[in-house]
Amino acid sequence: MTIKAFVEQEKKTLKTKLSSFSTQPHLVIIQANENEGSNIYIRGKIQDCEDVGIKATHVRYPITITQNDLLKEIQRFNEDDSVDGLLVQVPLPEGMDSKMIREAILPQKDVDGFHPLSSMMACTPKGIIDYLHAENFSFNGKHAVVIGRSFIVGKPLASALLEKDCTVSILHSKTDLLTKHALLASADLICVAVGKKWFLSDEKIKPSAILVDVGINREDGTLFGDIKPGRHAALQTPVPGGVGLLTRLSLLKNVVEAFEKRQSRS
Ligand code: NAD
Repeated sequence: MTIKAFVEQEKKTLKTKLSSFSTQPHLVIIQANENEGSNIYIRGKIQDCEDVGIKATHVRYPITITQNDLLKEIQRFNEDDSVDGLLVQVPLPEGMDSKMIREAILPQKDVDGFHPLSSMMACTPKGIIDYLHAENFSFNGKHAVVIGRSFIVGKPLASALLEKDCTVSILHSKTDLLTKHALLASADLICVAVGKKWFLSDEKIKPSAILVDVGINREDGTLFGDIKPGRHAALQTPVPGGVGLLTRLSLLKNVVEAFEKRQSRS
């Protein structure tokens, strides 16, 4: 199934599930930047929420807001019982401690899944795992190579694949070429999250490998992935229309998860 079709099907399921509740889940999106990319991402998130029946509130602060004031605002939404999910859109104003801001969000409202105590999985890894499940990928004992070790994608993805009993190799900027080529040649699953256009291009891979392209690289208004298109593989996710859609879907699922947990507590 294409990612687009998978996402549409999953969104329909969420919509049906939410129609059985008498209240809507509520997501608050905090923005303290004037970044056009952020505006586009937020518009997409609000549209996704509308599509499935989640209430989304977009709260904007001036870029001059102090870290203390932003932390106070996060606290206010943490204490607001009508809010199920809370996220702060990046980039943050310059000089802010991103870890402190991220970790100020209550773990049970942390729908981005960035808080170390969050019960929710980070959105990009979650989307990838869910899609691979839908594609009947049998994780057990498979060799998965993750390229990139960021806390948003690489590390949580590697750890999620490990949880699924894959044998996981993590490649990063200090991995030597010989090791890289040897690991890629034996990989059943290759996930690339580096942020460099066509980082994976002509390296030897198994024709049965599954290629997951996380990268989003903009050049002259066109989007490129981290993997050169058209590799000879069992499956290669496209860019655009690939992992980005899965990430958006996971945010909706995390909001619904936070909402259902709150419903069961009240
Ligand atoms: P990041 O810059 O935080 O991390 C990049 C990682 O790549 C680092 O861990 C680094 O070690 C590794 N790296 C750099 N050069 C390398 C090399 N030569 N060999 C091996 N590894 C190397 O980036 P990120 O936040 O993880 O994002 C990566 C890409 O994924 C970006 O293009 C970003 O825009 C995209 N992204 C997409 C989604 C989505 O939903 N599709 C979500 C998050 C990030």
